[in-house]
Amino acid sequence: MRFDVITIFPDMFPGPVGEGVIGKAIDRGLVRLCVHDLRRWADPPHYKVDDEPFGGGAGMVFTPQPVFDAVESVRRELQQQGSQPGPVVLMSPQGRRLSHGSVQRLAQTGQITLICGRYEGVDERIRAHLVDEEISIGDFVLSGGELPAMVLIEAATRLLPEALGDPASARQDSFVEGLLDHPHYTRPAEFRGWQVPEVLRSGNHAAIRAWRRREALRNTFRKRPDLIDLGSLDDEERAFLKRLEKCGPDKDKESDRDADETALK
Ligand code: SAM
Repeated sequence: MRFDVITIFPDMFPGPVGEGVIGKAIDRGLVRLCVHDLRRWADPPHYKVDDEPFGGGAGMVFTPQPVFDAVESVRRELQQQGSQPGPVVLMSPQGRRLSHGSVQRLAQTGQITLICGRYEGVDERIRAHLVDEEISIGDFVLSGGELPAMVLIEAATRLLPEALGDPASARQDSFVEGLLDHPHYTRPAEFRGWQVPEVLRSGNHAAIRAWRRREALRNTFRKRPDLIDLGSLDDEERAFLKRLEKCGPDKDKESDRDADETALK
């Protein structure tokens, strides 16, 4: 997988994506991170990439020429190497919200060009005639597209086969099966009087699997009921949810599980 990032702050990279599993994926050549300084396509002596907005108002806007030239240069390079250019993505708070589904789709493209805006954003002709999709990481505004681009790179890389030491860890993550992940516990078995559920120490793998599935359902019901697709559940799971509904709303603490269980009896 190759990511081409177009930015006026190339020194921000690799930054956080140079660490941990993503850093290792880069070191192992599973991912290529190509960072391009937008000013390379601006004219000397000032290498200016922005200008005042027509109509007046605060802030500056990226001019079209350097951004078009940068993207076209990346495309040419890929074509010369015999690689198929993937989508051109503009990081933008106005874009479609990044989700597990869109990350999955993007992780299969082989290459993505990410444009990181700054200031008031980019000239509209970039969005209209150069960009394939606009992607947001949430309904809030950051100063630049670099952190959102890193979020996308990190999320997509995690989904690449071989990126994680144990591929099973990506499969059990929240959203992958349409539910949130189940709770996790580690040593000690008792901490300040709080016990790890007995079943997790039982060595009974079928019972552990069943507990995890049930707790994933409970977690999702408590925290993100909007994710639950009743059609994907079996009768027993639907009945479990029905009973949970009777236990009351907005409980997401560990102790709530005991309260749920008591109410279910
Ligand atoms: N004036 C723009 C607006 O209100 O839509 C915001 C511009 S923002 C200060 C500068 C750049 O940061 C954007 O062009 C975009 O690349 C990036 N950015 C800011 N918030 C973002 C978000 N939530 N998701 C993705 N990119 C974002």
